[in-house]
Amino acid sequence: MIPALFRVDRRIDEFAGTFTLYLSSEQSREPPLFRPGQFNMLYAFGAGEVPISMSGSPAEHNGYVHTIRAHGLVTQALARLRDGDTIGVRGPFGHGWPLEKAEGKNLLIIAGGLGLAPLRPVLCSLLQGQPAVKQATLFYGARRPQEVLFRDSMRDWRERIALVLSVDDADTQWDGRVGVITEPLRSAEIDGENSIVFLCGPEVMMRFCVRLLLDKGVPESSIYLSMERNMKCATGHCGHCQWGPSFICKDGPVFNYGSVSRWMNIRAL
Ligand SMILES: Cc1cc2nc3c(=O)[nH]c(=O)nc-3n(C[C@H](O)[C@H](O)[C@H](O)COP(=O)(O)OP(=O)(O)OC[C@H]3O[C@@H](n4cnc5c(N)ncnc54)[C@H](O)[C@@H]3O)c2cc1C
Repeated sequence: MIPALFRVDRRIDEFAGTFTLYLSSEQSREPPLFRPGQFNMLYAFGAGEVPISMSGSPAEHNGYVHTIRAHGLVTQALARLRDGDTIGVRGPFGHGWPLEKAEGKNLLIIAGGLGLAPLRPVLCSLLQGQPAVKQATLFYGARRPQEVLFRDSMRDWRERIALVLSVDDADTQWDGRVGVITEPLRSAEIDGENSIVFLCGPEVMMRFCVRLLLDKGVPESSIYLSMERNMKCATGHCGHCQWGPSFICKDGPVFNYGSVSRWMNIRAL
């Protein structure tokens, strides 16, 4: 439960209110080990701790990378950090994406808004050939063109991954798709039996995507999604993140849809 000290090596602004921190340990030179989809508890001294997913890969930075939206007390304190500042880190926690289940399959990665952050380590791993999928497609929806995350990485991703990008509200500079991401997903040809889906975004978006995927013949057991709830201990003791019979911190944040369908209530949409 004791946070380790990490230094902010680099802080970059993605767009207004959303930024990425590159952190390295002040106590160890060993590269941190984690699975894509896991999260850390980041402690802004004097403000508190919040769960934040890893958004980068060890191949890219010998430490942790976190992409954060400034919401309230703690994330706003994290937003004030500058290069060279120190924060506390506990983790990694939780179950990540089951990469091994995607071997030889068509992998559909579906992200909404900041939901791309916990999926970015999967995309980095795919570029290095892990897992060896048959085909990979990223469906990514952002609210506005200026809120499209990780534009620089996207150039590399396009070499190996089919990318379907859409924004809810376009401006005059935007010449891509406009509309919610369920629209291109609805018209996509999906081989349900040979596909596996990793999904992360606002809960309402995930519920609509899951309903669509089920209608297209993707089995419940092939859909994985990452859930968020307010969290305090991250070790399954405090109960803040209880969801049905599960704790998001220790049983998730990545769940197989088949095991949580009762709590998602898709058919009520
Ligand atoms: C497993 C997990 C991984 C996460 N990964 C990331 C990440 O990679 N990047 C990131 O920016 N955030 C992530 N979050 C969300 C992040 O933890 C919250 O935004 C943060 O805890 C808010 O704390 P705060 O003190 O800044 O805001 P608070 O002062 O606690 O809340 C401010 C406002 O934000 C609302 N709020 C709080 N938490 C959330 C939430 N989870 N979703 C929507 N609204 C919320 C509150 O209801 C309140 O209205 C993750 C959460 C979980 C559980």
